[in-house]
Parts: sequence; structure tokens; C-alpha cells
Amino acid sequence: MKKTFKFYIALWVAKIVAGLLKLLRRNASFLPGKIALKICPDFMGIIEKPEKIIAITGTNGKTTVSNMIIDALEKCGYTTLNNRIGSNVNSGIASSLLNGATFMGKTKKQIAVLEVDERSSKKIYPYLKPNYVLCTNIFRDSIKRNAHTDFIIDIINSAIPKESKLILNADDLICCSIGPENKEKVYFGIDKLDTDVEETTNILRDIRTCPVCNTKLKYEYMRYHHIGKAYCPNCSFKSPESDYLGTNIDFENKTIDIKTKSGTNKYKLISDNIINIYNMVAAIAALTELGIETQKIIEIFNDFKIVETRYSEEKVNDKKVVMYLAKGQNAIACSRTFDYIKHAEGKKAVMLNLDDFFDVKDSTENISWIYDTDYELLNDDSIEQIIVGGARAKDHCLRLLIAGVPKERIKCERYEVDAVNHLDLEKVDNIFILYDVYTVPTAEKVKAKIKEKIMQNVEE
Ligand SMILES: [Zn+2]
Repeated sequence: MKKTFKFYIALWVAKIVAGLLKLLRRNASFLPGKIALKICPDFMGIIEKPEKIIAITGTNGKTTVSNMIIDALEKCGYTTLNNRIGSNVNSGIASSLLNGATFMGKTKKQIAVLEVDERSSKKIYPYLKPNYVLCTNIFRDSIKRNAHTDFIIDIINSAIPKESKLILNADDLICCSIGPENKEKVYFGIDKLDTDVEETTNILRDIRTCPVCNTKLKYEYMRYHHIGKAYCPNCSFKSPESDYLGTNIDFENKTIDIKTKSGTNKYKLISDNIINIYNMVAAIAALTELGIETQKIIEIFNDFKIVETRYSEEKVNDKKVVMYLAKGQNAIACSRTFDYIKHAEGKKAVMLNLDDFFDVKDSTENISWIYDTDYELLNDDSIEQIIVGGARAKDHCLRLLIAGVPKERIKCERYEVDAVNHLDLEKVDNIFILYDVYTVPTAEKVKAKIKEKIMQNVEE
């Protein structure tokens, strides 16, 4: 697109604002882009971009995958334009493009690696025209923001350029429905695991029938929710074969094989968590597609570590106190967390602090997600106590009762911090505090009170 007078005004004003914000040590990853788009709506289309652009989208894992790709490319000596510290909506991406360009709108970087919010697709892809779009997975997310997977897929499909090469998760049939008209596609996936099941007990499975003939899908193996290898017993529809297949996972020696058409290679396994193994395979697929040599990728992954931002544990005397960001309103994230706790070692107490607000004004009114979440996973003999705190404590308690959790294991309190009084330290080894993105300060207070209680117990 031709650089217009309006474009230069937008570029310069936004650059000056970004410079001022940086001088004032303020966050410059959103406002400059917002201003540029306000002055020149075509800004992202006109500004010169790096020769190669890869966009990373999907419900879970897009930040982890983007970071791995950026780090790997930079280790290979490439300069990258990215929104790692910025936002993943259109203003954030415009800010990143602005930052990566000169005062004349020329690009300073070789490859753009951009994390893209699914709902912002229409405002981004038509201007950005990425060479590659990687989608990690599509799950049901917060109903208030994301409605339903069909809604999200419609948004993505209405915006994705047909020329983009897609890198999709073969084990996720919803993700595979992206870009029906895109000719170039490659898939990544993970081979059958010992922990896979024939029939999942998860409540949420957002695809159950064949999209061609509507027959109930069957699975060669199921992993969780709708993830697995499916086929239709009535027509030829089935999950695509993975071009990048993670296989032979050795949790003991921490290795994984990646099988491609050109051979099988061994990589260091950088996480035990299946969700992060998917992220790793996705990043390897993307780097290979971007033309990085396999040997180089193997070397880079030898030094990689995944920083777990949602999970932290602390040993307090003989107890383990775990903080786990479970993301309330997100049924999948909560179910995965409950599953983790069910399988964790020892006798456990769960502090359930999943309400999304400090005050009623900012809260979502919709609590239907509680009924999409597998509270049944908390009905396990190793979980001695479930102590619920918060304004909606009674809703969560009701849901736990419906899940069959014995009444004597459940405690209910209006205020999270008061709920700690119910904790019976004689009964448990590990205490899990589950909290929401919006309630970090409350969760910190709960943790402080638990630590105090443990120490008091020791003195007595
Ligand atoms: Zn069918």
C-alpha cells in the first residue's frame, strides 16, 4: 500500500507519543498504536513490515509458543519484531509495528512474531497478511468474552488471508477447521500416550459429531475434552495426520522424538506437562517452517526452560503451599487444574477462591461456567477438605455437592481470608490455593494467613 500523508502524520505523532511515554517510564505498548490507528485506520497495512511474518493465535499457550519462537530465532541471529511485552489486540500490534520501524516507516527487523488475540482477528489479519498463522488450540474460554468455539472460529475464518500457510493442531478438530480454503497447511500433534482414555469424562467437548455427516465421532484415543484422534464411523472424515508428530515421550530421561516426513529426531523434553509439550511441538513445527535447520533447533531446545507463571509452590515447615492460577470463568482451565490436583501426591486441601471480582460492580453475572467445569474431579478421597471463599461461595458449594463431594469435606465462607479458619492442618500435607486473574491480592492474603497458621501450629 502507498504511504499517504495521513500515514506519515500517524507515524510521527505516534512515535513522539511513544518516545514521551518511554521518557516518563510509562508503558508504551498500547497507546501509540491506538493513536496511529485513530489517525490512519490503514496504518498496519501501509507501514513496512519484516519480510516474514508469523502470527500465533489460539485459546491456550499462544504466549509460551510465541516466546519460544522469538528466543529461538534470536539465538539464530535474526532480529525479531514482536509484541512480547505488549498487548495482542490491534492497538498492541500497531504499537509493535511502529516500534520496529524507522521514522520514515521502513522496517528495522527481519522476522515478525506476533501473538494475536482470536477476537481481534478481523482488525489485524487483513492488514498484517501473515505468511504463517499458527493456532495452538481452540477451547471454550470465558463465556462473557468469547461466547463459544463456533463464534471464535467464525471470527478467525472471516479474517485469515487465504494465502497464509497454516500450522494447526491435528489433535484438535476445532482448530483444524480453521482456513477451509487455505491451500497450504501443516499439522502438529502428539502420538497416543499411556494416560489417554477411550471415553473422556470431561463435561465439555465442543465437537462431538462429524462435521460432514453429523454422525457421532469415535476416537482412536482421547486425551482430554475434545483433544485426541477422531474418526467418523460413517464417512471418511478423520483427524489429519501430523506432519510434526511428538512420539516416544520418555518422561524419565526427558526426551521426545519428533517424527516428520524427512525423518525422526530426538529433542530434550522441556516440560512434563502435556499442555507445554504441545506448545513445544508447535514451536518446533513453526521454526522448521520458517527454515531453521533441525540440528540448530535441537541445540536451542537443549538450553530451553519453560517458566511456569501460573503455578508456584512453597514449603512451609512440613506442608506444601501451592498457588495455582485457575482462571475462573474458564471451564477448561479450571478443569485442567482440578485434574492436576486430583493426581497430585499426598493428602490435600483446596482453597477455592475463583470469584472474579473485588466488588459486585465489576463482576460477570454469568456463572454457567461452573456447570461446564469438572468439579467431579475434586471428588477424590485424597482431597480431604475443599474450603470455598468469596461472594459466590454458595454457588461453588452447591456445584461441589452436585459433583458428589461428601458434605463434611466442604466448608463455605463469604470472605476468602476467613475461610482459612476452617483449614484442618492435622488432615493435610499439601494446600492448594486456586485463584483468578482478578483476585491476586486476595490470594496473597489467603496464603499469608495459611503460612501464619502453619507456624502457629508448630509453636503449639
Ligand atoms: Zn461423517
